[in-house]
Amino acid sequence: MKDTSNRPLSPRTMAVHAGTRRSQYGEVSEAMFLTQGFVYDSAEAAEARFLEASREEFIYARYGNPTVAMFEDRIAAIEETEDAFATASGMAAVNGALVSMLRAGDHVVAGRALFGSCLYILDEVLPRYGVEVTLIDGTDIAAWKAAIRPDTKACFFESVSNPTLEVVDIAGVAALAHDVGALVIVDNVFATPAFSRAVELGADVVVYSTTKHVDGQGRCLGGVICGTTEFVRKTAEPYLKHTGGSMSPFNAWVMLKGLEHMDLRVRAQAATAMALAEALEGHPKLARVIHPHLASHPQCDLARAQMEEGGTVLSFDVAGGKEAAFRVLNALEIVLISNNLGDAKSIATHPATTTHQRLPDDQKTMLGITPGLIRLSCGLEDAGDLVADVLGALDHA
Ligand SMILES: *Cc1c(COP(=O)(O)O)cnc(C)c1O
Repeated sequence: MKDTSNRPLSPRTMAVHAGTRRSQYGEVSEAMFLTQGFVYDSAEAAEARFLEASREEFIYARYGNPTVAMFEDRIAAIEETEDAFATASGMAAVNGALVSMLRAGDHVVAGRALFGSCLYILDEVLPRYGVEVTLIDGTDIAAWKAAIRPDTKACFFESVSNPTLEVVDIAGVAALAHDVGALVIVDNVFATPAFSRAVELGADVVVYSTTKHVDGQGRCLGGVICGTTEFVRKTAEPYLKHTGGSMSPFNAWVMLKGLEHMDLRVRAQAATAMALAEALEGHPKLARVIHPHLASHPQCDLARAQMEEGGTVLSFDVAGGKEAAFRVLNALEIVLISNNLGDAKSIATHPATTTHQRLPDDQKTMLGITPGLIRLSCGLEDAGDLVADVLGALDHA
């Protein structure tokens, strides 16, 4: 892409062009530099590069790689952050963002409705190293206000929680956190980079599992930490490159190409999710249907202000509990039973017995993970076919 700094480009244009580095062959499609190492012209050149490498000079793929750099620059352009560091998985991104900035004696406040592995980091790993963690109801701004202290260093939450799709007020939390100088770190998977306004609303660091909508076809694990150059290069990168959490060049290439059509995919998937949520709402076999942009969602206004579309996932509670939910899952003909999300293939998950199985029953109840709850990630199939599949399966409930 030529220098277009004189006019701002839309994220969709940057998703196709930003970050591209062309080799001497002038290839159109981004090259995959499947190499762990790089050759130096002389011993002096090697010494100089180890002393200080620019963003276009590489040493070892754990430190950086041209394909990975292309992906980092492209997603930073879309997310509108100064920089990004690509990681081996979404969890490497969450762990890297938190552990790289925290030390013993620090205090963290986090929304309680978290992905199981995120909860493990906050509840088990950080306390082991002397970081105090306060878990609260992230939807309650008064709870954030009560929990944030002068020594709070970070506030962490999923902007839309898994699997009950609760929405956290990013701007509200950011105002409270910034008052005490704490960083706001947002796990933004459900908002997707296409619908995200997290940075504009005050998030300092945005992390994604790119395994989900960025790949979008269920092939590779990946993650990314988006933030200021200061945070990404001075805090997160040293920790990640020395502890082994970097993204592989092959996975970066898959993610880079995934970004080119991510916007088209997630808009189609979000439209299907909304159509399915509307078709299911009020169904006699369902106790509730949850989707952030449904008028019945308790935080619908906030969700509409924070996200251009409601996302690609909906959840619904089958009235007959676990047995009825299992009958519905087993009767699905198109939708697969699995646990990824953001995939081109629609996927249904029973959180209580799979992704959230480890949680004690009282915590499941507190988080709304009822025995009848099914999470459905809408894929790229025809919306009418999906509605028919789910309605047909509900006849078995
Ligand atoms: C999937 C997911 C993660 C973890 O990502 P991996 O790529 O599986 O490591 C973290 N947070 C949320 C909200 C997720 O959905």
